[in-house]
Amino acid sequence: MNDLNVPDAVLGVLDTLWQRGCDAYVVGGGVRDTLLGRAAPTDWDIATSAQPDEVKAIFAGGKYENRFGTVTVVLDEYDAQITTFRRDHHYGDHRRPDSVTFTDSIDEDLARRDFTVNAIAWGRAAHEEQTRLLDPTNGLADLHTSLVRAVGDPAMRFDEDGLRLLRAARFAAQLGFEIEPRTLDGMRDTAEIVRWVSNERVGGELKLMVAANPPSVAFKILADTGVLEHALPELAAQRGIAQDKIPGHDLWLHCLTTLDAAASIDPGNQRLRMAALLHDIGKPGTHADGHFVGHDVEGARMAEELLARLAFAGRDVDQIAALIQLHMFNYEPRWSGAAVRRFVRRVGREHIDDLLRLRAADNIGSGLAPDAGHLDELRQRLADELRSNPPLSLADLALSGDDLIGELGMRPGPAVGQLLERLLDIVIGDPAQNVRDVLLSQARDWLEKHGAVQ
Ligand code: ATP
Ligand code: MG
Repeated sequence: MNDLNVPDAVLGVLDTLWQRGCDAYVVGGGVRDTLLGRAAPTDWDIATSAQPDEVKAIFAGGKYENRFGTVTVVLDEYDAQITTFRRDHHYGDHRRPDSVTFTDSIDEDLARRDFTVNAIAWGRAAHEEQTRLLDPTNGLADLHTSLVRAVGDPAMRFDEDGLRLLRAARFAAQLGFEIEPRTLDGMRDTAEIVRWVSNERVGGELKLMVAANPPSVAFKILADTGVLEHALPELAAQRGIAQDKIPGHDLWLHCLTTLDAAASIDPGNQRLRMAALLHDIGKPGTHADGHFVGHDVEGARMAEELLARLAFAGRDVDQIAALIQLHMFNYEPRWSGAAVRRFVRRVGREHIDDLLRLRAADNIGSGLAPDAGHLDELRQRLADELRSNPPLSLADLALSGDDLIGELGMRPGPAVGQLLERLLDIVIGDPAQNVRDVLLSQARDWLEKHGAVQ
């Protein structure tokens, strides 16, 4: 009987193992999320009494994955990661056990897992007839009361592996759970251990936390337990910095309110969420007389450094940093059409939508209406201006650098680029001028007046 609704393909893997005389269970996130009725997981973890070599032989297409003997079997829609029951030993580096011992006991295997809701198994021993749920740490009760609880002594488990500090906060956010009080105390007592976690793993967890709804949950936990200042000091530096926005909110709360607002404005937009989280990280370092001069530029620099350190993809880093650098724009209703077009040129057309969303989130985080600062008007005017596809970049010009060289005898060099920029400025001011002959004569006039400064 398949009373857990394990997908057939995954059940097939269990079945193969049972037929070979091995005990086999699904465990971890697949079981947890299915029991919670959450979206069907694509990653399934299987724990078995079979030794890694045996597993490899049984699933010839499977590949040997890591030095701890996890074999991944790729199924059509799912990945099944098969791991031999194990006990972990001393964690010399607060991250990974120095060695593991395989065991034939599923109970021992469940005891080394991080949280009770991740230590529920479904399956059977080879000789048993019925599948069943194994729940030696009472994870089901914690699932029902929405609690993240460490398996065993919390401080000891966090001290063994600092990644669990981040996982605890991340699961609380993803699942909408509270952290059980003793587990929370354990996090406080061991917060510093997070320093042993590699930057890449911090980055991976950060992405998952930011993607949760609402994303602020994980960050509040990290801040309250003291993990934040060791894992992400740039973010922690915002705590306690006064802001005159929402009464009682410091810069950190402004940041989290902005983050949650970004998540509700465009839920699937992870770059926007990250930009919202980081948009004011330049403020603590530029704080003087209640002002934060240059915090946009400083913030973009810091975000770039932080995200590169955490191994984010280069394109994401660039886009997030660009949004932060641009987030202090100031629209005035008296802007001319040309001013609106120049704004697009300065910002870059690809950033416009996200920049307006970031401002709306920032407004909400400042206790203002989302469209404060005439944002709705700016949005409308941008749409109106962009509808006719006006020339906004050098590529849109009706003439190229080669024309300036060929027709006007300019020598290749920076002066050509500078003149093109000038022509673009003219065309952005009046798109009707974007005609090759008109631009050539503009260029000629300009060269006559100024000479071709090389
Ligand atoms: P998700 O895949 O949704 O992130 P998950 O619970 O499946 O959640 P995985 O990282 O896939 O997490 O790990 C699978 C299982 O392995 C976990 O449920 C847990 O039982 C165990 N596990 C993973 N990482 C650790 C760890 N650092 N310490 C102890 N047990 C762990
Ligand atoms: Mg998983």
